[in-house]
Amino acid sequence: MTDQTPVVEKAASPVTLPDAQTVTSVRHFTDRLFAFRVTRPRSLRFRSGEFVMIGLLGENGKPLLRAYSIASPAWDEELEFYSIKVPNGPLTSRLQHIQPGDEIILRPKPVGTLVHDALLPGKRLWMFATGTGFAPFASLLREPETWEKYDEVIVTHTCREVAELTYGREIVESLKDDELIGEMVGDKLKYYPTTTREESPKMGRITTLIESGEAFRDLGIPPLDPAVDRAMVCGSLAFNLDIKALLEKAGLREGANSDPAEFVVEKAFVGDGV
Ligand SMILES: Cc1cc2nc3c(=O)[nH]c(=O)nc-3n(C[C@H](O)[C@H](O)[C@H](O)COP(=O)(O)OP(=O)(O)OC[C@H]3O[C@@H](n4cnc5c(N)ncnc54)[C@H](O)[C@@H]3O)c2cc1C
Repeated sequence: MTDQTPVVEKAASPVTLPDAQTVTSVRHFTDRLFAFRVTRPRSLRFRSGEFVMIGLLGENGKPLLRAYSIASPAWDEELEFYSIKVPNGPLTSRLQHIQPGDEIILRPKPVGTLVHDALLPGKRLWMFATGTGFAPFASLLREPETWEKYDEVIVTHTCREVAELTYGREIVESLKDDELIGEMVGDKLKYYPTTTREESPKMGRITTLIESGEAFRDLGIPPLDPAVDRAMVCGSLAFNLDIKALLEKAGLREGANSDPAEFVVEKAFVGDGV
């Protein structure tokens, strides 16, 4: 019967998937990193710094989803993501080939701990990132609340190679000319990129640079103080544990949405990785 035809078409076409969003732009930075933007579901409300599940339809016809930080701020009309390309990674070996006009699946249920609500008021906000762990900070740096709440914002980003810093560097550099927050940013922002393999102006792990005091001397600021400093951390598990230990040694306590304190941590990915 004719009234059954649309049902058959629906089941066969990914366009009819619930939670499908359309890719609007894609940019590749290295053979391991790319960023893309998609349409934003009208119903999606999130706090800058949160993550959602996104993915593609798997070969078995089931959604293949992974956690991704939303890299765009809460006020943006579109959603931006910053992604790794894992060789043979179930999702990213395919996701890296998306083009404008393609569709991805996005579950509109944002969650996460890298949010302002999980920190007690402070004067200086540290954002500690490695690799794609910069993504939530790409959101928070473009969020007016960040600049309203803090006198100083220090962004550290550590990657193996210089080209892996490009996405973060461009966002940081765009802030002062940003129509919405440029004036608020003023001279509050300090950017501290480092590399661990390729030669660059500042080499080394941020943990080592903090421990030795070199980072504070370079930045011209006093050592960590729980009365003043707040921190958000996003990197590999090993990185997160190392930074957490340094922050706790300085007297800062880990917070959560339900129990705000002086720092918050989120994994940039699960597994060994970088
Ligand atoms: C809370 C949360 C937020 C996340 N946000 C992002 C994000 O914004 N951008 C992003 O690219 N990924 C992010 N991830 C990781 C993401 O969920 C996937 O793991 C990644 O997209 C790879 O998917 P895959 O299926 O290709 O490989 P998977 O099977 O998921 O991973 C295979 C292996 O690749 C390595 N790996 C995975 N992701 C990364 C990464 N980002 N950097 C370095 N090594 C990695 C790990 O060793 C992992 O075991 C996040 C993970 C969590 C838990």
